[in-house]
Amino acid sequence: RAKGEGKDRLAFFEAHLQEALRREMHLLEALRHDLEREKGLWLAYQPIVDLKTGKPVALEALLRWRLASPGEFIPLAERHRLMASLGQFVLRRACQEQPRHGLPVHVNVSPQELLDPHYPAHVAQILEDTGCAPENLVLEVTESTLIPDERGREATGSLQILRRLGVRVFLDDFGSGHSSLERLAQLPVDGLKLGQAFTQALGSPPDPQSPAARVVAAVLALAKTLGLQAVAEGVEDEHVLAYLKALGFRLGQGYLLGKPTPLYSEEE
Ligand code: C2E
Ligand code: MG
Ligand code: MG
Ligand code: MG
Repeated sequence: RAKGEGKDRLAFFEAHLQEALRREMHLLEALRHDLEREKGLWLAYQPIVDLKTGKPVALEALLRWRLASPGEFIPLAERHRLMASLGQFVLRRACQEQPRHGLPVHVNVSPQELLDPHYPAHVAQILEDTGCAPENLVLEVTESTLIPDERGREATGSLQILRRLGVRVFLDDFGSGHSSLERLAQLPVDGLKLGQAFTQALGSPPDPQSPAARVVAAVLALAKTLGLQAVAEGVEDEHVLAYLKALGFRLGQGYLLGKPTPLYSEEE
């Protein structure tokens, strides 16, 4: 009986695996097709807000696709080495659309893109082609890209080149990786975004004595000491907003402050 069950279970897993593989291949082919034609892919923009005035000071470009959410298709693109071309599409589109809103635009950079030694040259080319001023571009990178091995050092060198061009760099989802504080002080970055895991760990209303609240306060103090701008991500309610403001955060992002929205309606 046990043997029979084992067999059933194996067949069950095989069926699921096959289904997952089929979906992966189907999505991959569709994504390649859409990217080639630049159809079915668009950018949503979410404001980064000055917490004093409530006004947006920048927009983050977030890639959208007709067939899946970013949480699914971005890892998929990374697995199949499609992220570099997808990233170029995003950067070009974000730079092209920048005059429509006139604010600096934040663009997410995947590890695969930044680890390509030609990345700074690609960025420079896109800035030139689109006429976007380097000051209007902010690249968001994750800590894991910048681990101090050989590739990480190359990526860090690329960021230095980009900053000399006038492009700014922010560390995304700060705190979700394994960042050493010492390394943060050495990284060529202009700002950090406190990951939404931290913001959410505050609870609502936040308890200032909780460990999560102390960590958030310490991260802000650290950013200030290092002369970095700090953005609190994942601001979803008034209690948390008030708390972050009182702590001294100048910048925030989250559903309460503004949801990701396309610049154009589909018909345009
Ligand atoms: P991210 O760069 O940290 O972007 C923030 C994510 O949090 C976005 O998810 C945004 O919609 C979501 N978010 C914003 N406010 C709130 C909030 O108040 N509460 C909660 N729970 N979530 C909030 P999205 O658009 O699904 O993107 C997920 C991730 O996919 C991004 O995280 C980024 O890492 C990646 N991604 C998106 N577009 C691109 C892209 O063009 N290139 C690359 N390399 N990665 C991208
Ligand atoms: Mg980001
Ligand atoms: Mg983030
Ligand atoms: Mg992220």
